[in-house]
Amino acid sequence: MSWSRWFHTRPVARDVWLVAEPGHVNSWLVAGRDRAVLVDSGLGIAPIRPVVEGLTDRPVDVVHTHAHLDHVGGDAEFSRVAIHAAGVAELTAGASAAERRRYLAHTRRMLAAADAYRSLDRDFFHLLSADSDPRPLPPGVDETTWAPGPAPTPDLLAEGDVVDLGGRELRVLHTPGHSPDSVCFLDERAGLLFGGDTVNTGPAYAQAPEADLPAFAASTARLAELDVHLVLMAHFGRAVAEGAYLREVADAFARLLAGDAVLRPARDCDDDPVREAVFDACSIYVPAEE
Ligand SMILES: [Zn+2]
Ligand SMILES: [Zn+2]
Repeated sequence: MSWSRWFHTRPVARDVWLVAEPGHVNSWLVAGRDRAVLVDSGLGIAPIRPVVEGLTDRPVDVVHTHAHLDHVGGDAEFSRVAIHAAGVAELTAGASAAERRRYLAHTRRMLAAADAYRSLDRDFFHLLSADSDPRPLPPGVDETTWAPGPAPTPDLLAEGDVVDLGGRELRVLHTPGHSPDSVCFLDERAGLLFGGDTVNTGPAYAQAPEADLPAFAASTARLAELDVHLVLMAHFGRAVAEGAYLREVADAFARLLAGDAVLRPARDCDDDPVREAVFDACSIYVPAEE
């Protein structure tokens, strides 16, 4: 399989492209008059920079929603990356081979399930698309061959910063909760919010030791107040949601904090036990009971 088949790209707004690793993670390319940014750099299983350079002729820097391994894998391909100060240590340390091995084990479980899912989808549901249909791993990939190089020394992003692309601005919103370094990027004029792992249509990951449920709830409540046309997300079957979805996510967090949620046992992508609070629009993972 050629590397280019690993990614799926499509425009979603003027000079904004989805750069998907379907079934895994979405990065987003946003171009202004003078330069472009790639919101996250993906897994690093396949080179992302040639894909991005096929979409824009502007110089491209990376800006991060947070430092988790599925969002920073392509950093070594770029000369400038930026992240919130709370993510610098994790970005600099890089993921361990053990983390990559766990991720690949999850991928293999997903790919094993995908055949049955595709068949049901074809017969009944018709939801799968090129955005979401997972592709086979390139041959020979394991945690030793998939070993992203070090990120460049990052620039820092802070609440209220403006990333100026020339005629287009992205405002940095610090939205801790999923992780202390999580940020979203708001293109106010176009009404676009890049939600990272703060807003997804699958489970919100609030179960890790570094997650902070009350902060996560406060961040989603803040996002729900924004005037947003489209939310561009990093994970799960839908890459793009309408702005009204932000209110549904915030309401789910508020109900969970208020004790108004049913918790069921589930497993996260590391196959670790968690509890899942299920709502109509989304769900939220919280730690398993001790
Ligand atoms: Zn994450
Ligand atoms: Zn993620």
